[in-house]
Amino acid sequence: MFDAELFGDSPIILAGPCSAESEAQVLEAARALSKEGIKIFRAGVWKPRTKPGGFEGIGSPALSWLRKVKEETGMLTATEVANTRHLEEALAAGIDVLWIGARTSANPFAVQELADIFASLTPERRDSLTVLVKNPVNPDLELWIGALERIYGSGIRRLGAIHRGFSSYGKHIYRNPPKWRIPIELHRRLPQLPIICDPSHIGGKRELIAPLSQQALDMNFDGLIIESHCHPEEALSDASQQLTPESLGYIVNSLRRPQQIQSTENLGVLRKQIDRIDDELLDLLAKRMSVARDIGRYKREHGMPVVQPGRYNNLMQNRVDTAVALDMSEEFIRNFLAAVHEESVRQQLEICSPAGDGKECGV
Ligand code: PEP
Ligand code: MN
Repeated sequence: MFDAELFGDSPIILAGPCSAESEAQVLEAARALSKEGIKIFRAGVWKPRTKPGGFEGIGSPALSWLRKVKEETGMLTATEVANTRHLEEALAAGIDVLWIGARTSANPFAVQELADIFASLTPERRDSLTVLVKNPVNPDLELWIGALERIYGSGIRRLGAIHRGFSSYGKHIYRNPPKWRIPIELHRRLPQLPIICDPSHIGGKRELIAPLSQQALDMNFDGLIIESHCHPEEALSDASQQLTPESLGYIVNSLRRPQQIQSTENLGVLRKQIDRIDDELLDLLAKRMSVARDIGRYKREHGMPVVQPGRYNNLMQNRVDTAVALDMSEEFIRNFLAAVHEESVRQQLEICSPAGDGKECGV
């Protein structure tokens, strides 16, 4: 698997402009970032834009600028590859770290085509590469794991994931809401896999980069990939989320690194409390389900529908207000109540369906 020590740094930091725009812009950013201690330089050569007409990247000529960055600063270089032509050209240009973007990782055909190219390389060449797979735009953990498995299956061993948040409809604080439970679940399923957070594409705004980066480190992410441009307001893509190299250096140096080794004695006491509270919660939930089943029987006997939207809406609003007053987020309590309600409905339907244990409902 990916060797975090390879880069000598923990957390691993990749930084550079969203897009390579000109040789001067690339070299200026690389020199400034190198001064800030950054060792891996990112720049998009091919840019997947949502609509045509936007800046879609310089393409192949930009690869030689990345080669210059490497020669001049000694930094490793990283770019996105979305199809086999990109990959072949990036390999020929000696790019060290290849990432598969969020739109590509959502497409198993595209990922497999890239994997087939990795599989066709000599083992030495393959071992010299690092591949990072961004989460697919949609919050589908299995699709993300599937893309990682395809790349792993091609023989790539320096493999990592990038969490860049998920597309969502409507207005949000974040450009791509992080839905942290998905990368956390990825870590539970593949504990050896390094996960790098991309606060730039999650936040979409400069001022969110520092807090998101801190949250990621607090959650034990292995690194960060952050967009940086010497003149952010003039950037041809993602202008509002790019930081100057100096601000980026300042943020990276001010991040609190969570202690890996901690005194676990007090933690043990607190965890016991959590275990007990969780037991109580489960007990309460079981009681709630039992009452819900009683209600199910009553509804059945009186020919009432199982789901009554009026009641559900009232219950939701009332609980949300209370939970928010108790310092829980509205999103959390809505998700929680929706899950509890879904399970109550499932139990009521099961108990009352003629195929189920209908006796209990008097059928
Ligand atoms: C990028 O890193 O510049 C990029 C296009 O990211 P994503 O695939 O996450 O949208
Ligand atoms: Mn970008």
